[in-house]
Amino acid sequence: MDAKELLRRYIEQRRELGESELVLDRLNVEDVMRLIGAAGASRPSPAASHTVREFDSSDTRDWRTSLRDAGVNVDTPTAAAAPAVEASPETESPAVTTTDDMAFKKGIVVAPDEGDLIPDAILKLRSLDEIAEKVKKCTRCSLYETATHPVPGEGDPQAKLVCVGEAPGAKEDETGRPFVGQAGQLLTKILAAIDLTREQVFICNVLKHRPPGNRNPRPEEVEACSPYLIRQLELIKPKVIVAFGTFAAQTLLNTKTPLGQLRGLVHRYHGIPLIVTYHPAALLRNPAWKRPTWEDVKLARRILDSASRS
Ligand code: SF4
Repeated sequence: MDAKELLRRYIEQRRELGESELVLDRLNVEDVMRLIGAAGASRPSPAASHTVREFDSSDTRDWRTSLRDAGVNVDTPTAAAAPAVEASPETESPAVTTTDDMAFKKGIVVAPDEGDLIPDAILKLRSLDEIAEKVKKCTRCSLYETATHPVPGEGDPQAKLVCVGEAPGAKEDETGRPFVGQAGQLLTKILAAIDLTREQVFICNVLKHRPPGNRNPRPEEVEACSPYLIRQLELIKPKVIVAFGTFAAQTLLNTKTPLGQLRGLVHRYHGIPLIVTYHPAALLRNPAWKRPTWEDVKLARRILDSASRS
């Protein structure tokens, strides 16, 4: 079967599955390059050096150079092609906002009006260490009864980027550290792909204790625990937040919009740009999502770079 037929079948299959985004994860790169008019892979050029790398084995400079050769503007932020978010009271129209030389498609804006939801006992905590101490003794929901260790989060208290996941898993519960299992190792690689170490960011979850058997968090647990996350973000004041997975994204953005429609947009959480992407655990189950995740974290990196320049 020639490459064109394979590409047609692939796209049809994705459309039937209800996908509107295209991820070229199984095709021979050389065939696709030929299809779009690029004359084969180019050697990496020094001028194409970037602050970001892919977290798989391929060298991104190859496809960038090839696409540039084919006349594609690969320097345009990927968000420009993102799907629109369904209309909701907290959703702004997907207008384009500009930071420096970059244009991003806007998503949901969550205004900083939840102050009254934070109990005084949490609001008065003045550092991440104080929050961690409070979490250790927390009984605001029943999860502390079944968990082994609290997992308040770890990293740079002045991090420019904060990663937010769902809840601790078995390994995290055992060690008291966030994202240390298999998914955590993948998160470390994802961060490395945008030239960040775990120590340079802050990593935490919406829930600070593990739900038994990794069951889904319950609304009352989220309500009880989210003030800790809100306070952590208030104290850190990052330049960008990356929500990993549906749960973190929907909690922070106070929406039921599916993850697929939240990706590729720059949301605002209390004025801080927020990017949504797949949870690393989901990437372990579906490696095809590595490419869109790469696009998402690359967008986060661009926002970070843009904020550093301003
Ligand atoms: S999960 Fe959160 S609210 Fe529940 S006991 Fe732990 S720290 Fe407290």
